Amino acid sequence: MTALPRYRWQPTTEVIAARAGLDPGAVIRFDQNTSPFVPTWVRAEAARAAAALNEYPEVDYTELRRTLGAIHGVAADSVVVAAGADGLIRLCAQAFLGSGKVAVCDSPTYGLHRIASLHHDAKLIEVPRQARGAVLPVGSFPTEAFLDACRDAALTWLCQPHNPTGDRLDPETVTSILDTAGGVVVVDAAYAEFAGQDRGELVWGRDNVVVLGTLSKAYGLAGIRVGYALASPQLADVLEVLRPPASVSTISAALALRALQESNWMEENVAQIEAGRDRLAVGLNAVGLTPYPSTTNFLLCWVGSQARDIASRLTAAGIVVRPFPADGPLSDHLRFTVRRPEEQERLFAALEVNLP
Ligand code: PMP
Repeated sequence: MTALPRYRWQPTTEVIAARAGLDPGAVIRFDQNTSPFVPTWVRAEAARAAAALNEYPEVDYTELRRTLGAIHGVAADSVVVAAGADGLIRLCAQAFLGSGKVAVCDSPTYGLHRIASLHHDAKLIEVPRQARGAVLPVGSFPTEAFLDACRDAALTWLCQPHNPTGDRLDPETVTSILDTAGGVVVVDAAYAEFAGQDRGELVWGRDNVVVLGTLSKAYGLAGIRVGYALASPQLADVLEVLRPPASVSTISAALALRALQESNWMEENVAQIEAGRDRLAVGLNAVGLTPYPSTTNFLLCWVGSQARDIASRLTAAGIVVRPFPADGPLSDHLRFTVRRPEEQERLFAALEVNLP
């Protein structure tokens, strides 16, 4: 049996802290694209939901799905909830791929698109972004080659805004991909709130599009593992049939619903993170790095051939940034999640010491 590719996380905070001789609370995660801020009401809401833990959740998640539908201008039967956008990526691969079917993504992109495709035995076409030397500039999306490839694909993955570059396509390019693709297009829009991008409008009137969203980023709730898909009722039902029963816990469903109702908190969080992103860019520039423009909660930077060594040295000091594989197009890059101002100051100080 050939080994299947595995999604690899960086070491856990516990492990990094133990290696660095630090308290876990002193480790700062610049690598996971999560929110540094937690909603104020989380503890009280979790305690309230905990009173019903002897029973299964309300397994159709009607209120949660109706609320998500109302936000995005679709009916509840166009919404599927699961354990994170990751859970939905796997469901999409399971639903739309299978032996020898063609999947298309750009490269580099979010790793689970590739991994889930290969787990479901797809023939994967990875369309390379157009690097300029070692750099992946804005506008590196390979539009023509991607359009050609997706014509005959059973499943096309489009990460929009894009992880890890932080850029996004103009709406006309997205529309032409949705119009051209032969099969289903999964638009992974995990970071859409930071781009002011509406998820719902991509699925209106289309029966070949699934758009993914998550509570992990703008809503500050990565730990609850709630993501959702928007699609035509027919397509949503294909995913719903495959979804494991009661796959979102009672506490997660309650916290997700509350988060959607407290949309002010999310909007303030996005504004705070965007301000933090500007400060992060200024600080990175000040130590000699030039981040690419971003419509997300992270910045990608070209660092040079020492990028991976620098990441290791920072991790040893409890500052965890995101390096990329040595044999890939981003080997000379690091990615930095926007964090609290004081955490970013620690990053700048550490970079100043470590940059050649
Ligand atoms: N899609 C993209 C593009 C991501 O960057 C991430 C998180 N790193 C995910 C999906 C996973 O999101 P979730 O936490 O909802 O599973």
